[in-house]
Amino acid sequence: MTRADVLVIGAGPAGLAAVAELASWGLTSLLVEQRDQVGGAIYRRHVGDGSHVLLMPEHHRRRRDALMQAYTQAQARVSPLFSSVFIGVDRDGRFLIDNRSLGRVQSVRPKAVIVAVGTVERVLPREGWELPGVVTAGGMQVQFKETGQTPQGKILLAGSGPLLLALAAQLAAAGNPPLAVLEHAQPLAAVWWQGRAVFNALRSWPHVQEAMLYARELWRARVPYLTGWQVQSVQTVADGLRINARHSSGLTRQYTVKHLALHDGLLPNTTGLPGAVQRTDNCIVHAGDCREVLGASAAIDDGRRAAQQVVRALGQRCDSDPLDRAITAAQRTQTALARLFQTAPVTPTANTVVCRCEGLRRSAFDQLQVAGSAHELRLVGRFGMGACQGRFCAHTVSALAHERGIDFDPAAINGNVLRWPLRPVSLAALAAYDESESAPEAVL
Ligand SMILES: Cc1cc2nc3c(=O)[nH]c(=O)nc-3n(C[C@H](O)[C@H](O)[C@H](O)COP(=O)(O)OP(=O)(O)OC[C@H]3O[C@@H](n4cnc5c(N)ncnc54)[C@H](O)[C@@H]3O)c2cc1C
Repeated sequence: MTRADVLVIGAGPAGLAAVAELASWGLTSLLVEQRDQVGGAIYRRHVGDGSHVLLMPEHHRRRRDALMQAYTQAQARVSPLFSSVFIGVDRDGRFLIDNRSLGRVQSVRPKAVIVAVGTVERVLPREGWELPGVVTAGGMQVQFKETGQTPQGKILLAGSGPLLLALAAQLAAAGNPPLAVLEHAQPLAAVWWQGRAVFNALRSWPHVQEAMLYARELWRARVPYLTGWQVQSVQTVADGLRINARHSSGLTRQYTVKHLALHDGLLPNTTGLPGAVQRTDNCIVHAGDCREVLGASAAIDDGRRAAQQVVRALGQRCDSDPLDRAITAAQRTQTALARLFQTAPVTPTANTVVCRCEGLRRSAFDQLQVAGSAHELRLVGRFGMGACQGRFCAHTVSALAHERGIDFDPAAINGNVLRWPLRPVSLAALAAYDESESAPEAVL
């Protein structure tokens, strides 16, 4: 029996592609995944009784099938560890894993590490966004994919970005179309303003097919896609949620729904990750959306590229595929999409909750006595110290601090601060940790 050569964290497209590629070069891996299945954000499967098939564009389906086949073929060299959460690196360089099946923390010290922990959703604060019934669009999509059932009752989707379109089409195809999609940006008008560069970056056949698939579902279910609209506030009423929306022209509208799904884009999930380094004795590579949010196909290419970097760092010769070209094309597409879905900054009102973990409102933020640093704000306002570890509040806190003349990067609230545990861990699991013991599951 041999110990796994490489620790791969995250079993999404990037992590799966990485383990398959490593296996093709004769390397073994320990694949750590917090959930109980592979697939990540996009390819996760039903776990409940739901029976309908998720609407998915043909090019995603083809790449998923090829990826799963490569993963299956690699299985003799992959040791998967499910329900296990990477919680940080200790001061001696051990990678700590909260093995929730065994109820204890374990550690591994592999030759190399590929971190492929995906993305986090960006959601801008609005008045009432903390109320029950308000979720993120990604959260609603995950629930829908895993249970196979749409949420019951009227749904409104709002915010900005292509994920809103995808989710609206998936809900419509499954029989519960949203009342409307309120898109803050003006993507259709922007195609004309931004002109040829955007058009060229987006005209690849898979993207056109995907856009047509979603547009067809929305048209069939008569779902209005309203651009230039944003949610101003949310209130609880007897029959659900009252949503007040406003158009950039000043027009206002009200909706009454059971569920509001908000989404304002995706950001790399960098919170507390060890930095990338490529040396023979210490090799850590970031791959997929946690390196750069480029979508599922690019995540597969990036996972393979990360594996090839590891193979080279470990001293093997490895002639790489032309993966850089595919990743550069994905970067062009994402830049064009970002231009289409560009929105004006939103200023939270006095009553808006800024930090959901502590329930701190904008009015309370304005009264915080701070002279000038992110560190001070963390201590006084407890930003980045709750369960979200700054994933939700860092950008807003940085923008509000800027208004008061205090300038710092949002990463000063979340990403830069190396600490463990990154996620809540039970005292019993910590107490059961024996650092002299190697994790048995790390052995292939
Ligand atoms: C909610 C959501 C919906 C999306 N929908 C679409 C879509 O419809 N179409 C599209 O093209 N793209 C979509 N995307 C983007 C697409 O999913 C990603 O580009 C792609 O999945 C990235 O692959 P990845 O492997 O980098 O990350 P992911 O697929 O996110 O995989 C990361 C994996 O790491 C695991 N993980 C995270 N942290 C830890 C930890 N600490 N310990 C152990 N495991 C951990 C996660 O459980 C996950 O399985 C969506 C993204 C999100 C977040």
